[in-house]
Amino acid sequence: MSALLKPVEAFLAREHGLFIAGDEGSAASGERFDILNPATGLVIATAASGGSTDIDAAVAAARSALPVWNATPPGRRAELLWNLGVRIEELADEFAQLEALDNGKPLSELHIVDIPLCASLFKYYAGWVTKIEGETIAPMSGAPFHIYTRREPVGVVGAIIPWNFPLLMCGYKLGPALAAGNTVVLKPAEQTPLTALRLMHLMAEVGFPPGVVNLVTGFGPTAGAPLASHHDVDKITFTGENATGQKILDAAKGNMKRLSLELGGKSPSLVFADADIDAAVQGTFGAVYWNQGQCCIAGARVFVESSIRDEFLDKLVARLDEVVLGPGIEAATNMGPLVSAEQRDRVLELIASGIDQGATLQAGGGSPDEPALSNGYFVQPTVFTDVDPTMRIMREEIFGPVAMVSTFEDEAEALACANDTAFGLAAGVWTRDVKRTHRVAAAIRSGVVWVNTYGWFDAAVPYGGFRMSGFGKELGREALDPYLQTKTVWVDLS
Ligand code: ADP
Repeated sequence: MSALLKPVEAFLAREHGLFIAGDEGSAASGERFDILNPATGLVIATAASGGSTDIDAAVAAARSALPVWNATPPGRRAELLWNLGVRIEELADEFAQLEALDNGKPLSELHIVDIPLCASLFKYYAGWVTKIEGETIAPMSGAPFHIYTRREPVGVVGAIIPWNFPLLMCGYKLGPALAAGNTVVLKPAEQTPLTALRLMHLMAEVGFPPGVVNLVTGFGPTAGAPLASHHDVDKITFTGENATGQKILDAAKGNMKRLSLELGGKSPSLVFADADIDAAVQGTFGAVYWNQGQCCIAGARVFVESSIRDEFLDKLVARLDEVVLGPGIEAATNMGPLVSAEQRDRVLELIASGIDQGATLQAGGGSPDEPALSNGYFVQPTVFTDVDPTMRIMREEIFGPVAMVSTFEDEAEALACANDTAFGLAAGVWTRDVKRTHRVAAAIRSGVVWVNTYGWFDAAVPYGGFRMSGFGKELGREALDPYLQTKTVWVDLS
């Protein structure tokens, strides 16, 4: 294993608590749970198991901090967010080691995406704090009113985040929520709370007022559910699986909470015969296998124009030879374990269903044989062919390193295949034909279309799904809107 940094060793050895109103403390129940390294199955730390009493306290703290945060001058709030981004960059090695141990993902991926993008989100939203403006409106009637709008924060935001990008998701939620003037109760995933805990220490060090962000670690049903149904929470922002999103929809109705739901996907990658095939293979490899396939955007339904199917498939399978499966914390690793035994078993069960339903395995299909990996939650990168749209592997989100490769004859069939899903998160298109680029991008029913690339994200560019993939954009200026509400003020000047 790469040598752990001293601060990482010290952090792992701490007794982590909940963060409420700036104080770190135990859960009311006194219960704790183990945090496992998914590469070894060994316990690396423990966390406090928060419940509804802790959620009540955290929400009360966020409510009390709301006027404090709003009285903090915008220039100062911007400075705090910017400085947090800078500190995340400075501590990139520390965050990367913690995340690699907790989630399993490779250090290289953390240094390319998770950490710089998280830092850039805080810096990007720092810029918006001082640019949230209302309007004056002249009434149609010409009546003597001075009418203006105020853009006010929604209030207390509950942020419930998943385990696939644990630190990055903190940036997705906290950046716009705080820039818009809200206070937050953050509930990280029970599998991966360490970087969110580290972030709380950093926010205190940077100077965020106590209670502006509160953190309750714990499980979905015991910590997430009471947050989602809490009557003094004004908005829930959630990223996770659809079944949980639907529970949150139900839980939120009691007080008509605002919701942003970033849910699952079943995204297509379309490879046309006129594409640069080597680039398409490389891009599709990333679309399927990045983060061990544990991405809601995974472009794993791969449709290839039939005339280039064999060449594409051979090259994709050959590309798998470059995969080095191992613990994320090892520098040589470029594909880590899945996050948990439960997730590995889910993926293996779906792979087995593909075989049962008649798909042909071209690569992978199980756990690796290497004894050194036998205690971790590894799954081989897998490729299926001979798939049909009725199979479970073609309809259900797999959230693991599995590609399904099939063919199409023409553009109309490619589009029909792409849109044959209840989801609508993302799509990849590989072609050199500029006219086709725009026709296909317009016809695909998804929130993002990447052409001759896949999986790019930028703090300034909106992201979010259509249909069953959820609603409420993230990133960019659009992501601020769901954290703001417009108040209209009428003043009679007569
Ligand atoms: P997974 O099943 O893959 O862990 P989830 O969508 O269930 O994915 O988890 C995402 C986040 O939602 C986690 O923080 C989890 O604890 C939380 N969560 C799970 N169930 C609920 C629930 N009923 N209410 C609120 N949050 C929940």
